[in-house]
Amino acid sequence: MPPMQISTTPNPTPVDDARLAGILASPGFGVHFTDHMLTVEWTPQEGWHAARITPYGPLTLDPATAVLHYAQEIFEGMKAYRHADGSVWLFRPEANAERMARSSARLALPVLDPADFVETVDALVRADERWVPDAEGEKSLYLRPFMFASETFLGVRPSQHVTYMVIASPAGAYFRGGVKPVSLWLTEEYTRAGRGGMGAAKTGGNYASSLVAQQEASAHGCDQVVFLDAQEGRYVEELGGMNMYFVHADGTISTPATGTILEGITRSSIIELAGKLGHQVVERKFTIDEWRDGVTSGDIVEVFACGTAAVVTPVGALKWAGGEVPSATGDAEGGPVTTTIRQALVDIQYGRAEDTFGWMHRV
Ligand code: PMP
Repeated sequence: MPPMQISTTPNPTPVDDARLAGILASPGFGVHFTDHMLTVEWTPQEGWHAARITPYGPLTLDPATAVLHYAQEIFEGMKAYRHADGSVWLFRPEANAERMARSSARLALPVLDPADFVETVDALVRADERWVPDAEGEKSLYLRPFMFASETFLGVRPSQHVTYMVIASPAGAYFRGGVKPVSLWLTEEYTRAGRGGMGAAKTGGNYASSLVAQQEASAHGCDQVVFLDAQEGRYVEELGGMNMYFVHADGTISTPATGTILEGITRSSIIELAGKLGHQVVERKFTIDEWRDGVTSGDIVEVFACGTAAVVTPVGALKWAGGEVPSATGDAEGGPVTTTIRQALVDIQYGRAEDTFGWMHRV
């Protein structure tokens, strides 16, 4: 297929240098957006067409736009990193492209060719390159590709007009003032995904359904919520936005098997990385009792969670309605395996270590 042709209309009033410097000094997360956005349309007759970069701004949507009613929508999350020589890189964008294609299949949305996905993300990052912060303090440019049912129609069926967009937002370090363990709340009331459901897709509905559980976690003084499987309520699935890892005393590492969880790019990278560091990594069903008993008995020596936002975060205490197990590593800011894996990934992303896996993609 020929590469996607993308037209560009530059923003006539881009942010001025002084304001941009202020934003990049302390970007927060998801509050500031770059000067441009990228849009591509799809219809069954024309396929993907009208690819364009235009000034960032609001959309005008008919109130009957299908996505507003039936949530036929998917998205991705990834980051652009600036290296010390000023060059800008993405971490495994092909993996995000393939995951978006899998999400498309589940949500009855058209598949965007993975090469076109990468081309669109590259194009927006190039247009807004000055918005990529420097590497200092683990800053990055967060990229949000998304696709939604844009047909004006209230019938329940796959939309015959779909819009794909990419927007970008500078992001500060997830941990300000050093890596800190997250405390977890085990929800026994809410589940995230059932067999045959949408758990493996990155779609808005999964996040809408997680919010009330996250509120429950906050009400119990915990940072994040842990979901169990919907069928038996025994198997650990994942957090609202991160995958889980357990380090055993013998050096093996377990991570919950996929099927109903969102398969993270960070998760799959850690499987490869930890293997190279000499750990045996096992993807399997992992029960909540194994977690609780393992921390108490000393079989589990470290627990961590991973995702694009935090890369890797140590897990502190786990609480539920009937009790609590303390952190597997006491008060430490993460055990040695957690810390080594985190550092290795961050060093590859920011170009401070050799990319022996071929994960980085230069924009
Ligand atoms: N699970 C969920 C539910 C998520 O939203 C995310 C973030 N995308 C992850 C896991 C981690 O995925 P990744 O490593 O690709 O960021």
